[in-house]
Order: sequence, then structure tokens, then C-alpha cells
Amino acid sequence: MTKSETLFTRAQKTIPGGVNSPVRAFKAVGGTPRFITKADGAYMWDVDGKQYIDYIQSWGPMVLGHNNPKIREAVIEASYSGLSFGAPTEAEVIMAETVSKLVPSMEMVRMVNSGTEATMSAIRLARGYTGRNKIVKFEGCYHGHADSLLVKAGSGALTLGVPSSPGVPANVAEHTLTVEYNNVDSVKEVFAEHGNDIACIIVEPVAGNMNCIPPVEGFLEGLRAVCDEYESVLIFDEVMTGFRVSRGGAQERYGVKPDLTCLGKVIGGGMPVGCFGGRKDIITHIAPTGPVYQAGTLSGNPVAMAAGLAAMEQLQQPNLYDSIFENTQALVDGMQALADKHNISLTTNVAGSMFGIFFTDVEKVTNYKQAINCNTEQFNKFYHGMLNEGVYLAPASYEAGFVSKAHDADVIAKTLEAADRVFATL
Ligand code: PMP
Repeated sequence: MTKSETLFTRAQKTIPGGVNSPVRAFKAVGGTPRFITKADGAYMWDVDGKQYIDYIQSWGPMVLGHNNPKIREAVIEASYSGLSFGAPTEAEVIMAETVSKLVPSMEMVRMVNSGTEATMSAIRLARGYTGRNKIVKFEGCYHGHADSLLVKAGSGALTLGVPSSPGVPANVAEHTLTVEYNNVDSVKEVFAEHGNDIACIIVEPVAGNMNCIPPVEGFLEGLRAVCDEYESVLIFDEVMTGFRVSRGGAQERYGVKPDLTCLGKVIGGGMPVGCFGGRKDIITHIAPTGPVYQAGTLSGNPVAMAAGLAAMEQLQQPNLYDSIFENTQALVDGMQALADKHNISLTTNVAGSMFGIFFTDVEKVTNYKQAINCNTEQFNKFYHGMLNEGVYLAPASYEAGFVSKAHDADVIAKTLEAADRVFATL
């Protein structure tokens, strides 16, 4: 038995499924999850001492690579002054100013502790602001696990084949209207019927929870136009795409301005942080300036802010993103060429430093139905082959991959050499 196997058996006695977030359990791909002891740059090590090139990067936060020295030092330094005060700090002000500068549509921001809290709070704010109940989301998009957002959700919920979770009351879910991603007509139809009771559209501007699916031309612009017409709030859930597909997020990359934005992952530099913000006239409806309630004991936590600020500072280096994007493109192009060489039907998507590989005959995957019709059996074999080779991909075919600053040409080359050997076995 490996140490991971021993730990997994032990973990399942006191932790449901042995994990604190479902996708970590390897349910989709089978086998034993690797218990991790440390990570550095592009690499992670498990309890059995095996080294992996990591393309999960903690599911997105580590755009600078694991164990970034400046973030680590900032956390250590902040911890000397106390772990939490429950009172305002200067670091929170600097954080709000920095977010506003990097993502200008976020005129004001409120810090929270996770992406789930950010989207849940943004939805409540949109409902409170508009006085409307219904929300529109997209099939295959995941926005965290708040009740009204677990309707045809992606990520773990998809992987587990539970599109709508038990425990979500029907009369909560009925206010969530789910339409097809990359299909503006389906949005227009739902607005034609319910438009005057729709508080908001929430969208992943690059979908990253049904593998990686970028917006087709005109999609995000179409959402903007529909929201303007019906005076609904457009929410970009940039928890995954923020500071990743571009320094200013997907809104900068695609040039479409939402009313509210949700951030998470990168903004905390690896600490538990989320944030939502946007138009001043909307967000001032939140307590204490407005009646929509939202709060948090640890929100704006000083150690978390120190980590996030150290990340934000480094993200402002010139050319940083260009080089990460080049390496991501090289990885994806290399994978495609190798799959072609081995006569394997495969297509790829890429958006900045997010990527997706799909085992399918479809030329370009643009929606959820295509994403779930991929050859999962082949993916699973590929997955375990790569894991064995020391390449740690997301353990489910519905998840996007992430490249960091630490994934240099050498790391990409090693990955492609491994992929060449694994494709040959499929
Ligand atoms: N929105 C998106 C787009 C996400 O990808 C995620 C998490 N993967 C969330 C929200 C929820 O964030 P968290 O897990 O921090 O609650």
C-alpha cells in the first residue's frame, strides 16, 4: 500500500469521501487521490515522495506558481502582527484600490472569504437592487455552491452526475433559469418571457467548469445588450478568469463591461479570499450603506490581504502575462500535434493561461452538450498515464487546466514528452 492509499482509507473514516471538496476524491477517474506534502513553482510532491508537474495549481490561484517567495514572506510578516482583528485595516483599503485599478469596472469592492460567498452575495445584491427574483445562468457553468446556483451546475456536481443537488428547495431553484452557453438567442428567449422579473445574468466569461470553453464572438456583447434592454444586472463570475486570462480578467480580454464582478482564487494568492464589486450605484445598496445584508467575521483578513497584495504587486510586472500565454499555447499546440501523430481524436481550447483538451471528433467545443459527450474513458486512461508519468492534470474531464509563470519551456517540453508516451498507449 502506498502512503496515499493508507491515508485515503483512514481519511474516509472521519471525512465524507476522505476529502474536503468532492472532485479531489478522484471519483471521475478512479484510483486513489494523491495526498500532497508540498508544492513549489510548477511542481508538487505527494506523501510517497513522487514529483508531479501540476496543471491544477490549487484550481487556479497559483498563477505565479506554488510557494511564491514574496507571497510567503508577506504572509509570515503579517502573521507577526496578529491573525485577525475584526476591524478595518489599511491593507483592505490598498486591496480595494488595487482591484479597482486593475479591474476598472469594479468601482467599489467588498472582500469575502471564497468564490462561493462572492457569487452568492452578488446575486443577493442584484436581487435587492432590482427588486426582482429570477436569475439567469448557463448550463455547465459553476458559480460555487449557494442554493440558487446549484441548478444544472458544473464542476463537482457535473462529475458526480448530480446536476441539481438534493437539499436545494424547489421553490429556490425555480427562480434560476438555465440557458445554453454561447447561445444569445436562448438568452433572448428567456428574457422575452420573464425579462421584467430577471434580476441578473451570471456568467463565467470563459467557462472553466465544463472543461475550458471560451465565449464565441458576440456572446458576451449579446449578454450586455440584453441586460441593458431589460435593466437587469450583468454579473461576470471571474473567480477563475480574474487576473488569469488577462491582468484585468475576461472583461479586459474581450472588452465587455459587466455591472458586477466576482473574484476569488488569484486575488488571495493561495489564501481563502473572494471579492465582489462593480458599479458604485449598485454596490452601495449593500450594508452598511444600503439595506442588502452581507457580512463576514474574517472578511478582509489581514494575513489573506497581505498574500493577495503580494500577488497583485507581482502581477503588474510588464510582459508577465505574454510569456505565460505563450507557454500555454505551446502546451496546447504540442498536445494537438501529438494526438494527431497518434491518430487520436482530440481538440483543444485555450484562453490566456487556461486550457482544455477534449477527446472528441467535434472540431471546436463551444457548449456543455459537446463537452459532456467527449470520450471520458479515453480521458481517464490518458489521465492515469500522465499521473504515472508525473504530470498532475485535473482528475475529471470537465475541468480546465492552468499554466503558471513557473511552467517554463522546459516544463512544457517535459509534459509533452510524457504525453507522447501516453498517447502511444491509448
Ligand atoms: N465561480 C467559479 C467560476 C469557480 O470556478 C468557482 C470554484 N472553482 C467558484 C465560483 C467558487 O469558488 P470557491 O470554491 O472559492 O467557493
